[in-house]
Amino acid sequence: MKYAQRLSQRLSQLALVVGLSLAPTNIGLAQSSNNTVSYSQFLNALKAGEVSSVELYQEQGLAKFRRKDQPEQSPPHQVRLFDRNPELIQLLRQASSRHNTAVRVVPSGSDGAVIGVISNLILGFVLLILFLMILRRVSNAPGGPGQILNFGKSRARFQMEAKTGVTFEDVAGIEEAKEELQEVVTFLKNSEKFTAIGARIPKGVLLIGPPGTGKTLLAKAIAGEAGVPFFSISGSEFVEMFVGVGASRVRDLFKKAKENAPCLVFIDEIDAVGRQRGTGIGGGNDEREQTLNQLLTEMDGFEGNTGIIVIAATNRPDVLDAALLRPGRFDRQITVDLPSYKGRLQILQVHARDKKIAPEVSLEAIARRTPGFSGAELANLLNEAAILTVRRRKPAITNTEIEDAIDRVTIGMTLTPLLDSKKKWLIAYHEVGHALLMTLLKHADPLNKVTIIPRSGGVGGFAQQIFDEERVDSGLYTRAWLLDEITILLGGRAAEVEIFGDAEVTVGASSDLQAVANLAREMVTRYGMSDLGHLALETPSNEVFLGRDLVPRAEYSEAVAVQIDRQVREIVMHCYETARKLIREHRAAIDKLVELILEKETIDGDEFRALVRQYTTLPIKEPAWKATATPAVSQPS
Ligand code: ADP
Ligand code: MG
Ligand code: ZN
Repeated sequence: MKYAQRLSQRLSQLALVVGLSLAPTNIGLAQSSNNTVSYSQFLNALKAGEVSSVELYQEQGLAKFRRKDQPEQSPPHQVRLFDRNPELIQLLRQASSRHNTAVRVVPSGSDGAVIGVISNLILGFVLLILFLMILRRVSNAPGGPGQILNFGKSRARFQMEAKTGVTFEDVAGIEEAKEELQEVVTFLKNSEKFTAIGARIPKGVLLIGPPGTGKTLLAKAIAGEAGVPFFSISGSEFVEMFVGVGASRVRDLFKKAKENAPCLVFIDEIDAVGRQRGTGIGGGNDEREQTLNQLLTEMDGFEGNTGIIVIAATNRPDVLDAALLRPGRFDRQITVDLPSYKGRLQILQVHARDKKIAPEVSLEAIARRTPGFSGAELANLLNEAAILTVRRRKPAITNTEIEDAIDRVTIGMTLTPLLDSKKKWLIAYHEVGHALLMTLLKHADPLNKVTIIPRSGGVGGFAQQIFDEERVDSGLYTRAWLLDEITILLGGRAAEVEIFGDAEVTVGASSDLQAVANLAREMVTRYGMSDLGHLALETPSNEVFLGRDLVPRAEYSEAVAVQIDRQVREIVMHCYETARKLIREHRAAIDKLVELILEKETIDGDEFRALVRQYTTLPIKEPAWKATATPAVSQPS
């Protein structure tokens, strides 16, 4: 109680000090209160010509003045002014001309600025002291004195799991990788047998694959199957601000691992440390080199038979230092790719095990609709569906939840529909434009649904195709398909122009246009699909800031660059004309569809096609197979 009181007193004193130092008005002017006179006294003195000099502090609403009869050394009188006083100005002017009163206006901020600086300094000082106090507090904490300053001694940042509890059962869809790793399990399980015969055991295995394909899971499963401890650390944790920390962490990690052998050491994101040395990018390069050298030393240091196996994961094997890949280090490389249809189905089955799913939901259909999804995305998809099911108070996950979850995972959360407005009209025409082309173009993947319900991330609506899963899995895109895809992408803008005119087009098509530019350019420069011939003119340039290719290689002259631009433009122009023409010829259908979508917000593929069929003689693109509605890839506007 007493203490609290004293504290609050101290605080209020402190506040007073800070308050004073922060408020410029009070400094130096406020103290001499015995000299303060009233406003009317001041005016009278002015009128009577008794005032020798006046200083006006307008900002502070103060004036200081001296009387003619006042002794030199005595402090000036001061008076509080009122806002904008024309009478005073008038009087001052008179006094200065008639009675020789010296009037000086002190510009605002002249001493205000100085005071501002001073008060900032004081504030800064206070903060510094506070910071120091906190530091001391921390360093005196029970964990031991001075701990916060103890960066150098690696406080081991790796994790150890005695039992991961993950088995090969939990990893689905990557059978080849599992088979290859089976051997590693066998070795970890009974390393003595191998040693007895004198077999050299792989020390390092590199798992290569895109994010979310189950690399971490796989490593855990190996440890789980073999029943050995699992040490893990992420490459990015090696790379610290302070030189030497990474190397000492590596040392610690392997020391602990040796104590616990046989065991498995997992290094995630190894590209963060194992990047090619000497590229000189991204600062902290020395540190990374030290860390990498330490890692190599450690790996060379333990003989193949100490019972430690190092598994590293990366999605960028191309940037790895060659020394890492030498025999005796990560000489086994296993690719973990995005799952194919079969893989997706198996992954879905694994993750459906612990979920209540309605009998009408077909995992096959979901797997077919999700080409290009990683294992992590599939797991996330089922989880989102389960969350939606709980929220909707349903007993089991139905197709509706699956469908909504896919949209949520791929596009974003739904927002409330727009009120009727010009914007809504425009979006409706734009999306129906995309959707119509999906329905009419010969090589296009058919429409799944089109909607004008907005979604997070600035998506006004979208038209969604059912991508052919075989094509996505195989990656074999044909020229005809690419051209139709570009045409579809341009369909939104084309509809805007056709209906609202050139002047009314909006920025809404910008991401469409970006995708068009990329696709068309790749057709010309990478796939040899233009009149320039079957030449790869560029290598993919996404490594600009990593590893080897500092500058994207351009294997052509200026003259060819001009030709490339022309070819790209030609492709885009041609597709755009096709889009415009189809939209113009189906204006009646479009108007009808827009009317419908404004009323219903969403039209599904079948309904859309049925309506278009009444208006056209062209063949309609139907989905090759028909399951409950679950989408694949969409054209957000
Ligand atoms: P990576 O390390 O390749 O980025 P993870 O192993 O961290 O991917 O995968 C994240 C999650 O995704 C896993 O915990 C698991 O739930 C799910 N997952 C990914 N791939 C698979 C797979 N092949 N089988 C089952 N689940 C998977
Ligand atoms: Mg991982
Ligand atoms: Zn669009």
